[in-house]
Amino acid sequence: MDFRARLVSWEQIDKWCENIREKVSNSYRPDMIIALARGGLVPARVLADMLWIKDLISVKTEHWGITATASGKAVLKDPGNLNIEGKRVLIVDDITDTGQSMKLAYDFIMKQKPAEVRTVTMLHITRSSFIPDFFSEIVDEKNWAWFIFPWNVYEDLDNLLSRVLKGRMTFTQIENELKDQFNLNIDSSLLSHILDEFRKAGRIVQEDHTFSKPPESQ
Ligand code: AMP
Repeated sequence: MDFRARLVSWEQIDKWCENIREKVSNSYRPDMIIALARGGLVPARVLADMLWIKDLISVKTEHWGITATASGKAVLKDPGNLNIEGKRVLIVDDITDTGQSMKLAYDFIMKQKPAEVRTVTMLHITRSSFIPDFFSEIVDEKNWAWFIFPWNVYEDLDNLLSRVLKGRMTFTQIENELKDQFNLNIDSSLLSHILDEFRKAGRIVQEDHTFSKPPESQ
């Protein structure tokens, strides 16, 4: 697969959420929202506000351990008893990519006897085995990208940088490698800020004008 990474802005999130709010509210009146943590947490919170829903809980799924690396099967992390019997539920996630996480959560939630369930994501990739009832944008699998959502910038860039960094590299070399390897255009001032924060957190070493991985992670 051709690897592309795309930085997503807060403005874009707002547009996608506004769009799914409209689609949901035209045909469904949920009593409560279940966010799929962690990716669905922010969209679910925004939708809960836009749809006037105060009952918001979350269920944690894990699938893609490292940015753009699906680690085998999706798993559900100890969801406990949800107490959703008889409720009209809306399940919210950021994206359906393989669709495994949404399918897993959906099957689990259905077993808890809700009155009705609908699913929604901001983005839906055509290869997904699960098609949500509502989504804002459909992405052809030929245009697959790893979407760097604003709530995952540090984690994703940490993963991408650790793949890019070989020995000691200058700022411009890092910028170019991110572009060459991941098709990622990142604003220089944002990259500079991130590198500085990573240096302070000990995730990167800066000597003069070069950057490298800390000795223990090389
Ligand atoms: P999946 O089970 O493959 O549908 O995806 C599970 C979760 O992994 C999603 O809810 C996202 O948080 C994350 N994820 C999967 N694919 C992508 C992608 N292409 N870009 C950003 N995040 C993704």
